[in-house]
Amino acid sequence: MRVIVIGAGLGGLCLAHGLRRAGVDVAVYERDVSASARAQGHRLHIDERGRDALSATLPPNLFRLIAAVAGRPAPKINGFDPQLRATGIFALDDSESESTTGGLMPAHTVIDRHVLRRVLLSGLDDVVHFGRRYVGYDSEADTVTARFADGGIARGTVLVGADGVGSVIRAQRLPHASVVDSQVRLIYGRVPLTADLRGALPPAMLSSVFNSVVGPGNRFLGIAPVRYRVPPATAANRLAPELAFPPIGDTLAVMFGRRLDRLGLSDSQLRAASGRRLRDRVLEQLAGWHPLITGVVEGWTPESVYPITVRSSVPIPPWPTSNVTLLGDAIHAMSPAAGAGANTALRDAARLAAALSETSTGRPLLDAIRDYEREMIDEGFRMVRLSAASGTRILAADPLPDESSSRALE
Ligand SMILES: Cc1cc2nc3c(=O)[nH]c(=O)nc-3n(C[C@H](O)[C@H](O)[C@H](O)COP(=O)(O)OP(=O)(O)OC[C@H]3O[C@@H](n4cnc5c(N)ncnc54)[C@H](O)[C@@H]3O)c2cc1C
Repeated sequence: MRVIVIGAGLGGLCLAHGLRRAGVDVAVYERDVSASARAQGHRLHIDERGRDALSATLPPNLFRLIAAVAGRPAPKINGFDPQLRATGIFALDDSESESTTGGLMPAHTVIDRHVLRRVLLSGLDDVVHFGRRYVGYDSEADTVTARFADGGIARGTVLVGADGVGSVIRAQRLPHASVVDSQVRLIYGRVPLTADLRGALPPAMLSSVFNSVVGPGNRFLGIAPVRYRVPPATAANRLAPELAFPPIGDTLAVMFGRRLDRLGLSDSQLRAASGRRLRDRVLEQLAGWHPLITGVVEGWTPESVYPITVRSSVPIPPWPTSNVTLLGDAIHAMSPAAGAGANTALRDAARLAAALSETSTGRPLLDAIRDYEREMIDEGFRMVRLSAASGTRILAADPLPDESSSRALE
């Protein structure tokens, strides 16, 4: 069996590791010319689903590396009002803490996205092909042929769309599956966590997974500490010497969110604006908020600031299985409001790797894919609905359109 994966994002890379570990032939094709070609967010909260998926798929030294560097905040989300008065604490479930990893990694950790992606790329030089933009596929009896913009092709037994929210594979495989714009825009930036800032901010803010500040008019500011347990360069030196990390300091990842029609900038203005202009616009939106909050945004490094359109998949009923399948954002993109997209993509990847490797013991391929898809559809669309509801409640995001056609899933 040969598996062709489109997209070297978190899900595609995790799948590639899982298949390699199971001895299955795999090739990954990525449109970006390199791993650092595009900003992809600043930090990720890895929960027990992501942790268990990484533990099941990665070579042990790479999993140990992630466990060593990932920050270990208290499993809670703090709520604040714009004057920095506490409005509540949401405790995250950590009952499955340390179940599958022999105590290596707790249920809730935080990691820099670039660090995670670099670790995931490690050892896959001969598997990942950068600069290959996929454009379509052709199915023949037991094989599928992927076509690329450069005129090249790749032939395999299975084709996996791990190509993110704008998935070209989904458009061909499930043309009725749509993605909607929630009308919320995020402006995302990061600020170095200096000793001064550390001393000024409430200690609870620095020791939790996430801090949510909600103000009038559905204005939202998320403040997320990214603190390394061990510097990535030190841990890599010990566990994966082939990975050379530059010195990386602790930071705060900070995101401002609001409906586009209340932001006072159009999409084209957002895209064209410099980091400084975006930062100034956010500061205007935060006028009158506590100086510590506005001070954090003032500290944004301009080159780290960029806008994001929050989009969501619309759940659809299960479809007939074939040897072309999907994972992660390609099929169930969700608002980041519940911080679940990456964890769900990683879980899909681990489940699909396990399902495909069962075919080596004689399991029919389509049975294995069908079982994977059943769980993936169920859990993925459940998280889509949950994330959309959070986005509507907190940010006045457009609710998901009527999905009466998807009742079969309930
Ligand atoms: C601001 C923000 C914060 C977030 N925070 C969290 C969090 O804390 N926790 C969490 O669990 N999730 C979080 N998420 C969600 C998470 O980032 C995504 O759900 C996750 O990256 C999905 O992984 P994926 O592999 O499916 O897709 P992606 O990571 O998007 O990867 C898709 C890959 O496919 C490639 N590709 C696309 N089209 C083609 C093509 N035609 N040919 C070849 N390659 C192609 C892309 O270049 C990309 O590399 C956040 C998202 C955002 C926007």
